[in-house]
Order: sequence, then C-alpha cells, then structure tokens
Amino acid sequence: MIKTEGLCKSFGQLDVLKGISTEIRKGEVVAVIGPSGCGKSTLLRCMNLLETPTQGKIYFKGEDITAPKTKISSVRERLGMVFQHFHLFPHMTVLKNVTYAPTKISKVSPDDARKLGMDLLAKVGLEEKANVYPSKLSGGQKQRVAIARALAMKPDVILFDEPTSALDPEMVQEVLEVMKGLAKTGMTMAIVTHEMGFAREVADRVWFLNEGCLAEDAAPDTFFTNPQCDRAKQFLEKML
Ligand code: ADP
Ligand code: MG
Repeated sequence: MIKTEGLCKSFGQLDVLKGISTEIRKGEVVAVIGPSGCGKSTLLRCMNLLETPTQGKIYFKGEDITAPKTKISSVRERLGMVFQHFHLFPHMTVLKNVTYAPTKISKVSPDDARKLGMDLLAKVGLEEKANVYPSKLSGGQKQRVAIARALAMKPDVILFDEPTSALDPEMVQEVLEVMKGLAKTGMTMAIVTHEMGFAREVADRVWFLNEGCLAEDAAPDTFFTNPQCDRAKQFLEKML
C-alpha cells in the first residue's frame, strides 16, 4: 500500500529522517514508536505529503507520489490522517465536520452525505451528537469524530499521530476501542502511539524509530520480548 525508499527529510541543517526504507501492506496495522523528537510525526507527514521529502521516494499503491506531477490533494483524499489535537472545524456541527469533505470534494449529494455521516457517527458511537458543535464534546468524543471524518473519504490508509496523547486517561480506551474495531475491518493503518499494550495487541508490526532511522521493524511479540538494539531496550524499560 505504501512503500518508502531511502526517505530523507531535513529542516535546514537538521536531518530528521535519514533514509527510511520500509513498507506497509494492505490491511496491515503498523505501530510507530520511539523517543520524542526521533521523527515519527515527520515520517507520517511525509507519507501524505504534508511535508515534502528532501530525498528518496514514496510509493502509494505503486504510484510514485514524490514525483513532481503528483496531485497532492488526491493523495490526501486516499490517505486519511488523525492528529493528536483533533483539528475539528469548530464552526461546524459534528455531522457537518464528517460530511464536509465528501460533499465538497467527492460531490456526494447532501442526502447521501447525511446518510454516510450518520452511519459513520453510529460506528464511533456518536449518533446522538450529530447536531452539536465540537466545543460541547469531551476529548475522547472529539477524537472519535475526527476518526469518523477521516473515514468519510473512504481512504485506503489512515495515519494516526498520537491519537490518544492529548486525552484524559479515562478517555483513552474509548478511542483505542474504535481503532481496534477499524483494524478488525481490515483498514490499513499506521499509528504513532505510546500505548504499548495497544501496540502489542493490535499491531501486525512495530517500527521503532531512533534519531531518524528505522532501528527495528518487527512483529510485536518479537519486539516487545526481544528488542534488538540498546536504544529500544532502554525505551521499553521506561515505557513498560
Ligand atoms: P516525533 O514526532 O518523533 O516527536 P518529529 O517528527 O515531530 O518527532 O520531529 C523530529 C525533529 O524534527 C524534532 O527535532 C523537531 O523539532 C524537528 N521538526 C519537526 N518539524 C519541523 C519543522 N517544520 N521545522 C523545523 N524542525 C522541525
Ligand atoms: Mg510527534
């Protein structure tokens, strides 16, 4: 589904990603973990072209999306993203947040959009919040709306950047449950997370990033019981 070859990203003098070559297969759930500042967000942001890679290639379903002719907007439609701080549209109702992109971009009719929106809100357990504004929601509810909104474009992949890091502890689980449900439907997902239990249970693979390099790429059981590099061992000792 996604393949990177020697992906590098620098900001001025700062080399953040230093040649990442890996792939995500269809239906796979990849947990991306690693110390703060190691480049996890930058990696995800490169994958849907929120950042322009400095070097290397990214293929999405076989198409080189780092090629100059790429239509960035069309890539973003097919690669959904969910952020730590939700980024809902504050002046739109919950339902409108979910249906806005499909009506504007895919030209779905208002009736079909409404039906799609209500179906997605049901999926994340928020049908009864359809007509309220985001400011009236808890953090966990906001994030579930953000997930419904990402799903509304029927993406091939969803990239999650620390989706539960801004939540009060009692709300983490409800969001993880929604993500777990999505994983079961076969959605392809990359999830930056500090929830080690979730990563171990739900992910098919773990990427451990360290200083802009993919230090480990392993099955969760292998990674969590027998990490190879010292940095991963240290990291896990602190996290578990
Ligand atoms: P992580 O998500 O793993 O915590 P990031 O990908 O956010 O790490 O950041 C990696 C490094 O790149 C950090 O040193 C950060 O300060 C730097 N960085 C990220 N985005 C930018 C940017 N837009 N401009 C300059 N430096 C950035
Ligand atoms: Mg980050």
